Amino acid sequence: MSDCLFCAIAAGDIPATIVHSDDDVVAFRDIDPQAPTHILVIPRVHYANARELGESDAALAGRLMAVAGELAESEGVAGHGYRIVTNTGAGAGQSVDHVHFHLLGGRPLTWPPG
Ligand code: 5GP
Ligand code: ZN
Repeated sequence: MSDCLFCAIAAGDIPATIVHSDDDVVAFRDIDPQAPTHILVIPRVHYANARELGESDAALAGRLMAVAGELAESEGVAGHGYRIVTNTGAGAGQSVDHVHFHLLGGRPLTWPPG
């Protein structure tokens, strides 16, 4: 999708620290990390949010979860515990309208979130 920041990152047109890349899924470090590990896991195909993704391609949604889990292992945060979260809608804090799953770990994570 034109004018989409995360489409541009997935295409390599805007630089990011890529930690996973395959035909369907890209993961890169958040530019403003909120935890020692803060990675964004996205599909290459543009979906605005998790609802659109889930309705359109459940298998791809599952792939994103699998990659997030693999990264939690490789980042060394799986043993302690980590969080996968996706903000949906401006009121929940979504600021980029290309679905992305935050993988957060490496520090104690409190609940409920802010
Ligand atoms: P949201 O607020 O939509 O849940 O998450 C968007 C995330 O994208 C934020 O955590 C923000 O720091 C991150 N972000 C925004 N612009 C960029 C960018 O240009 N590069 C990277 N790597 N992350 C970005
Ligand atoms: Zn996009």
